Amino acid sequence: MSFHSHYWPSYGDEWVRSHEGWRRMADVGGEVLRLNQTENEPTRIIRTNNATASDKQNIPQTCIYIRGRAKERQISTCLSDALNIFEIKQSASDIRRSNYVCEILRILLKEHICKLSGTAQRIIFQTVETLVNIALSSEMNLLAIKNFLDEITHSIITSSGTGLIGSPGVWKRHLQMVTNLATKVSAHKYTENTGKPQLLDLPKECLYNIISRLTDHRDIIMLGSANSYLYELTCDPFIWEKLCYYHFTEKQMMKYIDVTDDESHHWLSLYRKCSRKYGLRREYTDMLVMCIGCHALHWKLQGHNCISDEDSVVEKIEPMDFVSLFHL
Ligand SMILES: [Zn+2]
Repeated sequence: MSFHSHYWPSYGDEWVRSHEGWRRMADVGGEVLRLNQTENEPTRIIRTNNATASDKQNIPQTCIYIRGRAKERQISTCLSDALNIFEIKQSASDIRRSNYVCEILRILLKEHICKLSGTAQRIIFQTVETLVNIALSSEMNLLAIKNFLDEITHSIITSSGTGLIGSPGVWKRHLQMVTNLATKVSAHKYTENTGKPQLLDLPKECLYNIISRLTDHRDIIMLGSANSYLYELTCDPFIWEKLCYYHFTEKQMMKYIDVTDDESHHWLSLYRKCSRKYGLRREYTDMLVMCIGCHALHWKLQGHNCISDEDSVVEKIEPMDFVSLFHL
């Protein structure tokens, strides 16, 4: 059953009753493309890629407009509204967005913890909980998520008494929740895959191929610390050479090439120097981008209804750029 509302604040919207309560018909129509907590990630990606054009038209294309240029850029909403509009909590369970979301939370909790409103805190800590639950159920990135929780704990403890918004009791509950999640992650026992092929069952060439495609040095180092066989593979100079070319330009590398370096450690040493100076290149499957034509901030894969006559070219908005838009 559906009807046209005459009494709701958004007069004229079509509403439909569901087991979650009343919802806008436009939202339900786009359900095929929306996040579904019970669905696994490969199924979700195949389903959304196979969605028909009419399904895609039905999905609400959320965006927020940005005013000003360069450092003067400003977003037209507050942080908590923006987190809601871009469905940050739901995005944590989408493998294409989760790294981006995680980075935004990391910056907010590390650098702006004293500026977070009550609503923003609620969304952020609920999102942290979602990230942890996804990591536990998929058994992926558990070490990274544990480190993330430790960083949050450290940030809360060092910021307490320095003007956090909210009562001490509220922050005590946040801290308790993060501590409980960290304990849960630490106590997690991996499911044994009896009978299924393991990583070390792969031929050396395949393993080498996998390692040479990793883009984060921490993954390579962690893999190498598992045993001496993997350590030997991760020490191959070609892997570090590839990593250098992935993250840095030739011009950047030229400044730090040292001919006196031992040849076997040449690329590793160059990687260390360049990463300290330039930081690492981060790639996200889906991220927030800004349309150059109409200045609409939106999810890259979701798109937006452009109101500009120019061709829709977008600019990447890194997590730090997103946080800077609020001038916290
Ligand atoms: Zn546009």
